[in-house]
Amino acid sequence: MSPIVMKFGGTSVADLERINHVADLVAKQAETSPGGVAVIVSAMAGQTNHLVSLATGAAGAGVVGENFDDEYDVIVSSGEQVTSGLLALALRKRGLKARSWLGWQMPMLTNDIHGKARIRDIDGEAFSQAVGSGEIAVVAGFQGRTKEDRITTLGRGGSDTSAVAVAAALHAERCDIYTDVDGVYTTDPRIVPKAQRIEKISYEEMLEMASLGAKVLQTRSVEMAMNHRVPIRVLSSFAEVGADNSGTLVCDEDEIMEKQVVSGIAYSRDEAKISLLGVSNHPGIAADIFSRLAEANVNVDMIVQADARGPEQANMVFTCTERDSELAISVLQDAKSKIGFESIVVDRDVAKVSVIGVGMRSHTGVAKTMFDALSAKGINIQVISTSEIKISVLIDSSYTELAVRALHTAYGLDAES
Ligand code: ASP
Ligand code: MG
Repeated sequence: MSPIVMKFGGTSVADLERINHVADLVAKQAETSPGGVAVIVSAMAGQTNHLVSLATGAAGAGVVGENFDDEYDVIVSSGEQVTSGLLALALRKRGLKARSWLGWQMPMLTNDIHGKARIRDIDGEAFSQAVGSGEIAVVAGFQGRTKEDRITTLGRGGSDTSAVAVAAALHAERCDIYTDVDGVYTTDPRIVPKAQRIEKISYEEMLEMASLGAKVLQTRSVEMAMNHRVPIRVLSSFAEVGADNSGTLVCDEDEIMEKQVVSGIAYSRDEAKISLLGVSNHPGIAADIFSRLAEANVNVDMIVQADARGPEQANMVFTCTERDSELAISVLQDAKSKIGFESIVVDRDVAKVSVIGVGMRSHTGVAKTMFDALSAKGINIQVISTSEIKISVLIDSSYTELAVRALHTAYGLDAES
């Protein structure tokens, strides 16, 4: 009899009324879960932002690093302490046995990278015993502790990762992530009203969707679920208790009988294209350029190198986030004479649109469908990159919505109306 893990995000515990509703959902779950229930909560919506501004305000402008980050974690982790206590009380009011568990009490052990700590281990015998005994464990998400007994946090959105870690440690049947949407969609429903809720999606696909901007799950939580084979279900916390609320199951590819060639379309507008023109071409040039960027912590995404005016000169084009683009340019400008290039051009009015699907591995013509659909709308492709289960193109950002809609139709993802 494995336990069930439930996780509720900030909007789901935004006030006492919502917390009472969550308590009803948990109570209902407990009736049918003889293996026990553990609940992970976020801070009330808006609280973490507020705490972050208090912390940075107290420290003064520009303070980061050792002198700040440890106390920052003490401050910003406190929002989850409040909601874990409130939900435990709401459950007790319903006659259930429940208690709160803070990160240090379980304990949720992490490394000491404050602000974005990584979970090492959940070393919680008392915790598992409590869950097994039928007491509902209400865990403060987002927080952990180092082996030196300092409080850490797991990075923004980190309570998803707390939940999956608890599910893995308890060998839970499933990790149900309750949120303000009723599942994962084939694309952003605000752009494509005919987007459909996906019933089942593989870890690999969800990982791509999450890292490409689908905000439902923190990317690291999906990675962890994949590594530990924890099935995740994404579902709505706003549904009535007992209502049909099947959400989206994120699971192993083998458990998906009917595989779509393309499962979803993702997009990101936070992209910049940087072109180094007239780079003198010799072995080691790419290594030189990209190691400089890596040292500056610029996360480079797509890369294209092509000959320019003969083989002695190349153009090197790459993308990064808009935020990183200024830094990337200054790093490269500073090394202009060492690298040896003619000029540098940046375009921030670009967007990346990606089609994702494990079915691509065994189907041909997937890329052709994409290129045909975009050309039929007169959309010019600037850069292309592919992986086994994803094709991404960089386009003029003013065409983002048009492209997403055209691709959603081209791959047969539109809901029938
Ligand atoms: N409360 C934290 C945040 O706002 C963690 C979470 O909600 O997942 O980032
Ligand atoms: Mg979240």
